[in-house]
Amino acid sequence: MNVEKIMNDLEKKHPGEVEYLQAVREVLETIEDVYNENPQFEANGIIERIIEPDRILSFKVPWTDDNGNVHVNLGYRIQFNNAIGPYKGGLRFHPSVNLSILKFLGFEQIFKNSLTTLPMGGGKGGSDFNPKGRSDREIMRFCQAFMMELWKIIGPETDVPAGDIGVGGKEIGFMYGMYKKLAREHTGVLTGKGLKWGGSLVRPEATGFGNVYFAKEMLATKGETFKGKTVVVSGFGNVAWGAVTKVNELGGKVVAISGPDGYIYDKDGISGKKIDYMLELRATNEDIVKPYSFEFGAEFHQGKKPWEVKCDVALPCATQNELGKEDALMLVKNGCICVSEGANMPCTPEAVEIFLEHKLLFGPGKAANAGGVATSGLEMSQNGMKLSWSAEEVDAKLHGIMVNIHEACVKHGKDASGFVNYVKGANIAGFLKVADAMVEQGIL
Ligand code: NDP
Repeated sequence: MNVEKIMNDLEKKHPGEVEYLQAVREVLETIEDVYNENPQFEANGIIERIIEPDRILSFKVPWTDDNGNVHVNLGYRIQFNNAIGPYKGGLRFHPSVNLSILKFLGFEQIFKNSLTTLPMGGGKGGSDFNPKGRSDREIMRFCQAFMMELWKIIGPETDVPAGDIGVGGKEIGFMYGMYKKLAREHTGVLTGKGLKWGGSLVRPEATGFGNVYFAKEMLATKGETFKGKTVVVSGFGNVAWGAVTKVNELGGKVVAISGPDGYIYDKDGISGKKIDYMLELRATNEDIVKPYSFEFGAEFHQGKKPWEVKCDVALPCATQNELGKEDALMLVKNGCICVSEGANMPCTPEAVEIFLEHKLLFGPGKAANAGGVATSGLEMSQNGMKLSWSAEEVDAKLHGIMVNIHEACVKHGKDASGFVNYVKGANIAGFLKVADAMVEQGIL
């Protein structure tokens, strides 16, 4: 494999798709050796076929606001690869959404889903619609209009979308309702559903829980635990909420969370009723970080990122490329020993390089945040069997999956000195299964 040639060709075909190109490069650079050791991959054009999505549906989403004004957003679904199972991956509603971002997310999803050991292919979708500040009725009308197009290409055995940034239980409910009406069937076509109509216990908190389980496994390789550790988290959405909750349960102290406008530092720790307060604000689409600082007397650092706070463990849980080189250097300088990505690709390649250079425990999102989609897979299993597991059962399965993912990363990422490069380990473990399946299924 010639990584530079492949990347040059890809850049020519998709100029300016920065995030997508960044995600592909990272995978190619880490799997190069394994790829070259297996000539059947080259003979079957695996790389050329895996880096392009199977298909992309793009459509307009016209909807009407509460004042009767018409708006038109763009909608997308990217079906990337279904070698090991139906396409699976979330929907993101955020003004920054574009093809590059969805392609990077869909590409990463292939390997993440493979790592979970469950039969799920990779996909992603979304819209540049911004749910922030919109009434429930506006969100409903948007979700219904979005599903009017999307339903044509999804199905419980074909493509099973879920939530992501800007898409939580409420949005999934509105989209599911419309799918049900159009398809005249009540099936597990979306995950993240409400508990009363096919959802799984533990799904809302699964990504954050899984991230902390993964970090716990990494810490254990150094004889460490979360007990007494100071933890810094970015964002306060679905993922951050689960992570903050689980860190508290394991005896750690979260001292910072953030929003796009800055971060709060709470030296007493963010737990109990403080978490409930933020959940209430989130449910009404309100800003969280600034009101929190007034309510609980915490420091608010306007326009700053939480990575300047001294901590043992950092959990970036907000968005892509939110932790850069300077942030990484600051974390290292302040003695941070573990960084585990709750978000997708939150650390820039330069930041990752610094973590690896300084031999930090660094868990890439592909592995560390796979608990969300794994629990979506468990929701699909429950829907298929038409029964529900208890929270304890789901949590135990999630925990087991995260332990297995960690083991797979160690197996493929450990070097002669004993250092584990989890980026390499996750990419190789995720890639091999999909590549083998593609070889066995022929050139399609
Ligand atoms: P949410 O929309 O629930 O939360 C995102 C949070 O990040 C919000 O608090 C948001 O604030 C904040 N945020 C957005 N931009 C920034 C920024 N530049 N700096 C600091 N904070 C910011 O999304 P999720 O929690 O679902 O997703 C977060 C990340 O995790 C994404 O990368 C997603 O792809 C990934 N992920 C999610 C999974 C899931 O199950 N939900 C599964 C696996 C990965 P505000 O609301 O004010 O904009």
